[in-house]
Amino acid sequence: MIDLKALEEDLREEVSKASSLSQLAQIKAKYLGKNGYITQAIANIKNIPQEERKEYGAKVNKLKEYAENLIRQREEEIRKIELQEKLSKEWLDLSIPLEPAYGTYHPITQTLNRIKEIFISMGFSVMEGPEVELEEYNFDMLNIPKEHPARDMQDTFYVNKEGYLLRTHTSPVQIRTMLSHKPPIYIIAPGKVYRRDDDPTHSPMFHQVEGLVVDKDISFGHMKYTIEVFLREFFEVNVPVRFRASYFPFTEPSAEVDIGCVICNGEGCRVCKQSGWLEVMGCGMVHPAVFESCGIDTEIYSGFAFGMGVERLAMLYFGIDNIKLFFENNIRFLREF
Ligand SMILES: [Zn+2]
Repeated sequence: MIDLKALEEDLREEVSKASSLSQLAQIKAKYLGKNGYITQAIANIKNIPQEERKEYGAKVNKLKEYAENLIRQREEEIRKIELQEKLSKEWLDLSIPLEPAYGTYHPITQTLNRIKEIFISMGFSVMEGPEVELEEYNFDMLNIPKEHPARDMQDTFYVNKEGYLLRTHTSPVQIRTMLSHKPPIYIIAPGKVYRRDDDPTHSPMFHQVEGLVVDKDISFGHMKYTIEVFLREFFEVNVPVRFRASYFPFTEPSAEVDIGCVICNGEGCRVCKQSGWLEVMGCGMVHPAVFESCGIDTEIYSGFAFGMGVERLAMLYFGIDNIKLFFENNIRFLREF
């Protein structure tokens, strides 16, 4: 028969001497493990003569409970001691002055904020809309017919649900605004857009800011003035601006807007392909078909819309020649701004 009294004393002594959790784990294994002394004592109960078995069994089980509690208590003590030691070693001197590490906004965010500020100062409101958009808002109601090449799978990301896509421009926000607000409307719609493009000047995701004005007696001249003021504010110089006749399904007449090259001042360089001009946005008078699809009376109202790529403007403003730099999040690049 195992001497339970002696076992208990040995256990108590060993546990009290244990000074680390790993030592304690060894003791636990020695007494309570698969072949531990107490485990063996329990296994031995069945060999004890019938008349002593009950009393002995009770003692063994009591010892087991005692051992478990004792080890658990010591474990907590050791944890406290280790924590105290750690705290005393790893203390922080909060009085040492720290050099604060200042972050900055991403260059695209900075550019977006500047664009917004300029238009807000001219009385525009900022509107936003969903990036997963109805095909109807992205194309149909903007007078982009079913057979238009922009709808091609090669240009547009369609999602796994009939009638939905990743918006290819922020124009659907204009549709949503016209459906929910009565004119006068003076808004810009900034946000992410998606197209299946991927090269040094195109990214499959990029940012756009579009603008929409709907009011009585709005003319091409209002549009021209608004865009010229914006571009000169944005580039912080009195850049030459020209409007070239162009075509968009949702505006008529339509124009591309060029500024005198801000890199070479119009003398000709690689960025402007020696032309001295840089294309910066598209614009036009809102097509009557678009107004009609939104229930706006073309007898009373007219308006203009414009759209620009934020990365394009940021590249020209900061003098960056690869759009990918904006998305790689290289910390050395980002620290430049
Ligand atoms: Zn140039």
